[in-house]
Amino acid sequence: MERKEFRELTPVEDARKLISRIKATPETETVAIEDSAGRILAEDVFSPVDVPAFNRSTKDGYAIRAKDSYQASEPEPIELKVTASIPAGCAEDFFVDDLEAIEISTGAPMPDGADAVVMVEQTKQVDGSVLVYQPTHINENIMKAGSDIMKGERVLRKNTRIGSREIGVLASVGMREVPVKKLLIGIISTGNELIEPGRKLGKGLIFDANSYAIAASVEEAGGIPRMYGIIPDNEKLMEEALERAIRECNIVLTSGSTSAGVGDIMYMIIEEKGETLTHGISIKPGKPVVIGMIDDVPTIGLPGNPTSALSIFNEFVAPIIHNSLGTTPSFRTKVQAVMGTGLRSGGREELFPVGVIRGRAYPADKTSGAITTLSDADGIIEIRAETEYVEAGSPVEVTMFGNVKSPDIMYVGGQCPGIDILEERTGMNFRMLNMGSSAGFTAIAGGTTDIAGVNMPDADGNYNLSVIRKMNLSDVVLVRGYRRELGLIFRKDIEISGLEDLTEGNYRFINRNRGSGTRAVLERELGILAEEKGISRAELTKSIEGYNSASKTHRSVCDAIKDGRVDVGFGLRSAAEETGLGFLKITEDEFDFVIRKDILEIREIKTFLDTLRSEDFSKRLPNGIRTYEMTGSIISSF
Ligand code: AMP
Ligand code: MG
Repeated sequence: MERKEFRELTPVEDARKLISRIKATPETETVAIEDSAGRILAEDVFSPVDVPAFNRSTKDGYAIRAKDSYQASEPEPIELKVTASIPAGCAEDFFVDDLEAIEISTGAPMPDGADAVVMVEQTKQVDGSVLVYQPTHINENIMKAGSDIMKGERVLRKNTRIGSREIGVLASVGMREVPVKKLLIGIISTGNELIEPGRKLGKGLIFDANSYAIAASVEEAGGIPRMYGIIPDNEKLMEEALERAIRECNIVLTSGSTSAGVGDIMYMIIEEKGETLTHGISIKPGKPVVIGMIDDVPTIGLPGNPTSALSIFNEFVAPIIHNSLGTTPSFRTKVQAVMGTGLRSGGREELFPVGVIRGRAYPADKTSGAITTLSDADGIIEIRAETEYVEAGSPVEVTMFGNVKSPDIMYVGGQCPGIDILEERTGMNFRMLNMGSSAGFTAIAGGTTDIAGVNMPDADGNYNLSVIRKMNLSDVVLVRGYRRELGLIFRKDIEISGLEDLTEGNYRFINRNRGSGTRAVLERELGILAEEKGISRAELTKSIEGYNSASKTHRSVCDAIKDGRVDVGFGLRSAAEETGLGFLKITEDEFDFVIRKDILEIREIKTFLDTLRSEDFSKRLPNGIRTYEMTGSIISSF
């Protein structure tokens, strides 16, 4: 087979038109009612019975002849003779005559002769008789046979998705089995680097995310996923898997191997076995997508990148599933929002994942390749090819993902167990991007976060304030947070007496990522040490093995030490103690919060600040993190 370069990219509108003509034909099967949730009804459902099947009482009370009660009043009740009692489910026949009453329960069948039920609250029992204090009209408190659902009435329409409400209806009319559509969708993941979640992750391997994410999306859309597992980048194996899936399924989805890279052969197989309808849609993320037909089975090659794969699924595969099932997508709600920040676009049609917080949309911006882009996003906006820049404040329409609940507060900044406690104690849902203090400052400057969590020292050891000044931030406040013990973390079997020990080449060190406040704190401490030694800081750090490493969280530093990959790290006492490692305190930092001024008065931020200032929060902090008298006070306003 010959390698092929991308042909012309298909414009999105054309791709949509193409998609609207693709349809697979589902089969019909019968499933037990308890297995029918989420399925699509294959036929209209007509009730074989009246619901209820008999006239029944809707109240606890007495079945009577209404006319006997017409003269009743509070001062002058009517006395009726009680002749029997009918519980719910009673199959016996009863008869009510003039001036008689039969005690009756809610849901019980009405006796012959009676035409009304007087509620027990309007009566008083006296031996053998009942006193009725209010007039009751004919049919009062009676549900007539067939008044809910009449025999022969259509109760559910074909193509309805079966949910709890529908299951209730089906059971009420006595249906035990339900005819549903069966649209089988084969799912194949390709790539030598893939391994099933739960297996051990070897070098160069990644877990197969697509099989599972796509299967869940298929179910959400009403199809039935059938997973064919992971197929290596081998033409013959791929062909075999594809052939099998095409024989067994109504639609086949593959992921990976769609770009024109070496070893990316899926599209060539589709080309050879069937007809390629398009290869490459002018869209980002997820340009490399191939749509084809093999033996009348729509076959779609999704990009390997999980974010792209799901975006393309939502955009182009879900519509095919809905076309085939005759359903309309119910889970794709659109909400109106305004851009929280400006967004530059690449001059082609783009589907851009965004987070939506309190009506503002923020790009869930990570370079493509990260699944977290999707978990940090609530939906997708569509940017037209001719739009180069979407201004902050301009209205956008967001197509929301499944049942997502937008978060209450957006947080960008340093990673800290204190934030987790704050989230828990406020009872709110934070969207947390723990990308370090620098990222926090940048995000708050760009208006893309509500709160930045920062612990960035200046040369004099003052925290955060000077950074805000240097960055010229405006319309923000600096709120004092808490103090955290930072120091060296090490396995308990080695002796560490100070920073000096790092420089002697005996230990392998693991550093935090650039942009993390904790790394900056260490750098400052090492600067002081260098000065004492009369050498430059660069010279000193050169002598520390592993100084240029970049671990992203306190936890991952501890894990690396525990695993024996390194000997020493620098971080929080709380993290060291939690993982059972040794700790030597070097300094205490200030972990503060920068908050946008315009939202200081909203409920979410007030709750955040109240919690930060609370005794309850203070008590729950782990060893080595403490609040003090300044905690929660606004120390500067810019
Ligand atoms: P490909 O289209 O095969 O070149 O894949 C593009 C990127 O997505 C590569 O980094 C793959 O490792 C990754 N990828 C492909 N398939 C999967 C999958 N099933 N789960 C997670 N990542 C994947
Ligand atoms: Mg691949």
